[in-house]
Amino acid sequence: MDLSMIKTPTLLLDRDIATSNISRMVSKCYRAGVIFRPHFKTHQSRRVASWFRDAGVTGITVSSSIMASYFIEDGWTDVTIAFPYNPREHAFLEYLSGKARITLTVPGPVSASLLAEKSRSLFDVMLKVDTGYGRSGLQWNDTENAKKVAGILAGNSCLNFCGLLTHAGNTYQASNPDEVIAIYTESTLRMNYLRDQLGIGSLIISTGDTPSASLVEEMGMVDELRPGNFIFYDLMQLSAGICATKDIAVVMACPVVDTMPGREKMVIHGGAIHLSKDSVIINNKRVFGLAVRITPGGWTAFREPYYITSLSQEHGIISMPAATMSDFKPGDLVGIIPVHSCLTANLAGEYMLTDGSGADHLNSRKYHPSVNGSHA
Ligand code: PLP
Repeated sequence: MDLSMIKTPTLLLDRDIATSNISRMVSKCYRAGVIFRPHFKTHQSRRVASWFRDAGVTGITVSSSIMASYFIEDGWTDVTIAFPYNPREHAFLEYLSGKARITLTVPGPVSASLLAEKSRSLFDVMLKVDTGYGRSGLQWNDTENAKKVAGILAGNSCLNFCGLLTHAGNTYQASNPDEVIAIYTESTLRMNYLRDQLGIGSLIISTGDTPSASLVEEMGMVDELRPGNFIFYDLMQLSAGICATKDIAVVMACPVVDTMPGREKMVIHGGAIHLSKDSVIINNKRVFGLAVRITPGGWTAFREPYYITSLSQEHGIISMPAATMSDFKPGDLVGIIPVHSCLTANLAGEYMLTDGSGADHLNSRKYHPSVNGSHA
């Protein structure tokens, strides 16, 4: 990788780490006999998607109709939009249904009725179930409304009620790995309870969040797994004990713009518009990223952990002892392991691989000023 090409915050991606994260999850699902339908909202990249294809993945999850379209145009033909159905997008969803097998999610009878009224094309449909996260979906024990949804969907022959879908995002609040496993177990038991109450044995149970997908060995009674973040991991997962530093596949390379050894602070070009404002508490302190050394082949850890302790729109402030900071001057690069890689990748809008090549992102819309043909 030619580090002199990096002028502004640039998201580096290590393909070897990402593909090894993919292989691990593919093998785990294969061993458990579970369908692997990875969530592509983390990387949003056709090039990265091709690594999943190489690993035998055929069905994918996305979080918007635009993201579905981006991957369908790239040849993906089995796409679950794991976001509650939005009737305003119905015409576009019908268009997509002509191009690929589309699975939609409805959170309850009102959405199901609107979908049933409007649908003229074939859709698979899953009921979004809330097993404890509290974000969206029908309560897991609301059998009455779940039965209503089944009845409404059965009234339109274009719609195939095929499963129950949940995202147990409450695993992100767990304080240790055992708690993650307990939340996962409770969530899958609740999903199975609802399927039994509905009495429709053909419904699949689809779940997927990176903490439980990474830690749980006994998958139990689920049919499909949809984690997304695991391909890159990040500081949030690292600090919760979900992954190791060696599993993290993305780092934001940020130019140093000031060193303040007297105040033990280093200023970098790398703020909320590059990393996102997501934070995590480590040792009772709120931090916005973990610093690493950038090398021509990628990155390596510092001997001690140094964090971004303050973040504004463009600036990041790393707390670092003067002795370590003496290795740096303005114009040097320092890497930042992001707190939440999905948001950071979304903001970056493109990747530089550690082998020097590039990778697309759905949000590739960066403005590159032309100064004699280049941003020199
Ligand atoms: N499925 C749904 C519906 C989600 O909202 C998400 C993430 O928010 C995922 C799957 C993937 O979870 P994770 O980001 O923990 O891998």
